[in-house]
Amino acid sequence: MKVLDKAFEAMQNAYAPYSKYKVGSCVETKDGKFFIGANVENASYGLTNCAERNAIFAAYSNGYRKNQIKCIAIVSRGEKLVTPCGACRQVLSELLERDTEIILSNGKDTIITNIEDLMPLAFGADNL
Ligand SMILES: [Zn+2]
Repeated sequence: MKVLDKAFEAMQNAYAPYSKYKVGSCVETKDGKFFIGANVENASYGLTNCAERNAIFAAYSNGYRKNQIKCIAIVSRGEKLVTPCGACRQVLSELLERDTEIILSNGKDTIITNIEDLMPLAFGADNL
């Protein structure tokens, strides 16, 4: 799967001097474009940005919107599968369709899920 390969490539660009936990991500659009992201940490930890947010923000920054996104891959080399943190689930719940494929892999195991499964009953624009 090309989107997974690109996510693992992006993982090499992670800036993770504090956690040492490198994460890569890649958004694939329905018209065949790829937007990568890696986690970028900061000494002021709260300012760290996660790989999947960087990837989805890159897609949006290039003009793509949720109905044009085919899938997003999020990868690490940890023993356990990487899953999006709470902040990223909130962001993905607004910027992806509820059933868009979210592919999680650590190189050994791979699962395909979606934000409906990862964050049911999400708070969003519909609640306002
Ligand atoms: Zn996150």
